[in-house]
Amino acid sequence: MAIIITDECINCGACEPECPNNAIYEGADSWRFSDGTAMTGSVKGKNSGLETNVDEVQEPVSDEYYYIVTDKCTECVGFHDEPQCAAVCPVDCCVDDPNWRETEEELLAKKEQMHL
Ligand code: SF4
Ligand code: SF4
Repeated sequence: MAIIITDECINCGACEPECPNNAIYEGADSWRFSDGTAMTGSVKGKNSGLETNVDEVQEPVSDEYYYIVTDKCTECVGFHDEPQCAAVCPVDCCVDDPNWRETEEELLAKKEQMHL
């Protein structure tokens, strides 16, 4: 499953640079599929189903706390043995998102969508 940041977040920013998929953004910041990925052209988000151009600016998921874009989170599969955001978070608020239970294959497909 993807990782989600809870409202326990203290906005320290430690997790953001650790994400290999650039899936973590500061609260109130907009996001794009193309940020930190090799994606070009149009895309359909594997979780949200959002169809858009990868350079299209998207609305923030949270205005108050750092947030994770589910469509870009692979639980670090393909890069690391464990979710790096959860590993560095000082208050343990990067947790499994029960709404998105994905297999290893699905997570790898997501990674390949972003980085091939
Ligand atoms: Fe990024 Fe990995 Fe955290 Fe997902 S689990 S948001 S890929 S650091
Ligand atoms: Fe929030 Fe944890 Fe990320 Fe710090 S490391 S910004 S507390 S989610």
